[in-house]
Amino acid sequence: MTSSADSYPKDTYTKVFLPESEMPTQWYNIIPDLPTPPPPPLHPGTHQPIGPDDLAPLFPMAIIEQEVSPESYIDIPGEVLDVYRLWRPSPLFRARRLEKALDTPAKIFYKYEGVSPAGSHKPNTSVPQAYYNHKEGIAKLTTETGAGQWGSALAFATSQYGIECEVWQVAASYRQKPYRKTMMEIWGATVHPSPSEVTEYGRALLATDPDHPGSLGIAISEAVMMAVEDPKTRYSLGSVLNHVLLHQTVIGEEALKQLAMVGETPDVLVGCTGGGSNFAGLSFPFLREKLAGRMNPTIRCVEPAACPTLTKGEYRYDFGDTAQLTPLVKMHTLGHNFIPDPIHAGGLRYHGMAPLVSHIYEEGLVEAIAAPQTECFAAAVQFARTEGIVPAPEPMHAIAAAVREALACKESGEEKVILTALCGHGHLDLAAYEAYFSGEMVDRDLSDEAIAEAMKSVPVLG
Ligand SMILES: *Cc1c(COP(=O)(O)O)cnc(C)c1O
Repeated sequence: MTSSADSYPKDTYTKVFLPESEMPTQWYNIIPDLPTPPPPPLHPGTHQPIGPDDLAPLFPMAIIEQEVSPESYIDIPGEVLDVYRLWRPSPLFRARRLEKALDTPAKIFYKYEGVSPAGSHKPNTSVPQAYYNHKEGIAKLTTETGAGQWGSALAFATSQYGIECEVWQVAASYRQKPYRKTMMEIWGATVHPSPSEVTEYGRALLATDPDHPGSLGIAISEAVMMAVEDPKTRYSLGSVLNHVLLHQTVIGEEALKQLAMVGETPDVLVGCTGGGSNFAGLSFPFLREKLAGRMNPTIRCVEPAACPTLTKGEYRYDFGDTAQLTPLVKMHTLGHNFIPDPIHAGGLRYHGMAPLVSHIYEEGLVEAIAAPQTECFAAAVQFARTEGIVPAPEPMHAIAAAVREALACKESGEEKVILTALCGHGHLDLAAYEAYFSGEMVDRDLSDEAIAEAMKSVPVLG
């Protein structure tokens, strides 16, 4: 270890770099450490627990094994580490200038994942997913993307291993965010607006509405349909599933080491939750330490008030997609037909939450709050004007929660250590900032009636 606490003088360090030689070489699987295991996914037809064969048309065997692995640690293949090294380890920052602006005694740390080629945490999983498919002889991956971050991350990863990538992008965002499509094309991907003319399902939806805005649930259905048709094609998902959360744990493993390098342990950990992957990636290694009694941080999910999956959804078995093709998974859901209002945090607009995050929330191991988007933008602008980095709309939620906590510390005088993930930069989200500055941005709360209506689509299991 080349760095020691001495290299980081207590009162002045601003970012903590982990040497490449200290990069984690294993992913952490939290399931064996939990007090109870999460409920199994069920077959959509028989409602019986699914087996590996049910998933084989969708995913390579290595990924299916990781999805159900009983092992606590899984080695990261060398060819994946080689690509990770393009941007990992990522820096941990101490937000000294934000702390000063807030006049808080709290210490705020953020792990910055915007240094990846795609500008978010998503390549942490797109790279291993592309690698395992390539290794098992797969020629093409299909996927969906909302705001475009996941599509770009998969396009980048497939380009590293020489396989094709076909992306269904939610039509509304395809029209509003043309630069994301260009990014995917730079890395060699083919991009369709969803609903598309390519699938029968897409054509049927377009027949009812030629300007259909699409949704993540519909785009997932199209990408899945195209994958199961072709034996050389598989599907890839950027959040929600156990293996995705597993791959993201490199974030938390690095952060643990970086905080140790400056002699700190977190009192509060906050992360934004769309499908739950960056939150899980940051928090699961810390939850392991907490369950083992080595530290005791409060761990909190932050979601948009307009898509409050954990705080207002129900913990039920539901489908991951609109066409009901995916297995039934037990998760906090607003219903698979739910189409959230078009808030700017596109990556947080999913009707469900990762089953694993839902389970630990249900077990009382983590908390959840919802934040309105104007509060998030205000916090993000303050962050950009102090720390410099322009946050993506999703991690603004985490920043807003960190600011809330820091202001509470100002009231109470507590010197808490707050840790969060700045999981992406907002360089392709400037239109959202423009909307905020124009004053036309509104906060959308979801009514109980709208939630009750959306929940009607959730199947009732016998
Ligand atoms: C996709 C995305 C999210 C939401 O996904 P999670 O699985 O909840 O992490 C959040 N932030 C950014 C920057 C994203 O690209």
